[in-house]
Amino acid sequence: MACKQDDINTRCIHGGGRINTDGLRPISMPIFQTASFSHIEPGHNGSGFDYTRESNPTRSYLEKTVASLEGAADAIAFTSGMAAINTLFEIFNPGDHIICGDDLYGGSVRLLKLIGEKNGLNVSAVSVEDPEEIKKVINKNTKAIYIETPSNPMMHITDIRVCAQLAHEVGALLVVDNTFLSPYFQNPLSLGADVVIHSGSKFLSGHNDTISGFICVSDTELAGKLRLLTKTIGNGLAPFDAWLVQRGIKTLGVRMERQQENAIELASWLSSLDFVKKVYYPGLAGHPGKEINEAQARGAGSMISFEVDSSERAVKILQGVKIITFAESLGGVESLITYPLIQTHADVPSERREKLGITDRLLRLSVGLENISDLKNDIINASGN
Ligand SMILES: *Cc1c(COP(=O)(O)O)cnc(C)c1O
Repeated sequence: MACKQDDINTRCIHGGGRINTDGLRPISMPIFQTASFSHIEPGHNGSGFDYTRESNPTRSYLEKTVASLEGAADAIAFTSGMAAINTLFEIFNPGDHIICGDDLYGGSVRLLKLIGEKNGLNVSAVSVEDPEEIKKVINKNTKAIYIETPSNPMMHITDIRVCAQLAHEVGALLVVDNTFLSPYFQNPLSLGADVVIHSGSKFLSGHNDTISGFICVSDTELAGKLRLLTKTIGNGLAPFDAWLVQRGIKTLGVRMERQQENAIELASWLSSLDFVKKVYYPGLAGHPGKEINEAQARGAGSMISFEVDSSERAVKILQGVKIITFAESLGGVESLITYPLIQTHADVPSERREKLGITDRLLRLSVGLENISDLKNDIINASGN
């Protein structure tokens, strides 16, 4: 079931359902800071909860909310986005072929290299925004196509419907890392994807104060497999962190709208500056993926990458900004700027970085909620222009 924008704001607040813990009816889901739950009789715990590694009411409530936002049959909350991705890759077997985008979050590139290859996965990293590139490598051993759209950091847009069709023709899963647009702007499951990944550390929690991750699936059998893995590995999100993410999600809609408003304004303003050579933002006229993004998402988000005229200028901006912060991560209320070349994408091989355009002049900006004039002045003052 696809989420409509007119009801998603309600789901952000009530997606987990009414809370009625022992008739107390609290408005905010309490933090159940307990490791274990007592049993009534052998084989019967009376509450559905045994042990927090497996499940916990605070985490379950958050999972229900995120599942509701993505229109998923089930969502599982993890200690980080990487823990979610790692657990997903545990469902594959040695010899399985995985196709992934060549422009991906640096941590995902590292995971596929460090752990995926050791586990015998054959990984083809291709420009998934071009379906012909997928067709060249897909085969009967392909078990998953793994994409980000928009991608990190080059903001390529990949057609989710087309990828779902290609994957399903060979019985493979389409996995979409939906971190950049969040469920507020995009619901890949409604477009045919089988699995959605989130780093909850970003837009979902939204305050740069906690780390978390999610896997959302449309198939309950796959959900059962993943839940067994999570219980076995022990990487479920802790109750306090679950509560923080839950609190963040309540304002997801207003944050996404306002951050996007700032981003649209900043992207076109950046394009007008002499020292800015290229702006990568899918909401900007002339972005090659703009039409596809509009056909599958309800917004372009608030992530902008841009290339300046020299590496000296890039470093000057990173070190000179006073309101925007030079830091990794994204999606929070604070604007952050980062240097993909040596921060988030240091583990991407240099030839691949070169080909993608991840140069010493490329900066990635996560636009927050600050006043737009303050953000512009901050960039101008730091640039030395
Ligand atoms: C941050 C991020 C991740 C990893 O999530 P963590 O919560 O940092 O482990 C994965 N994918 C994307 C697109 C991200 O931005």
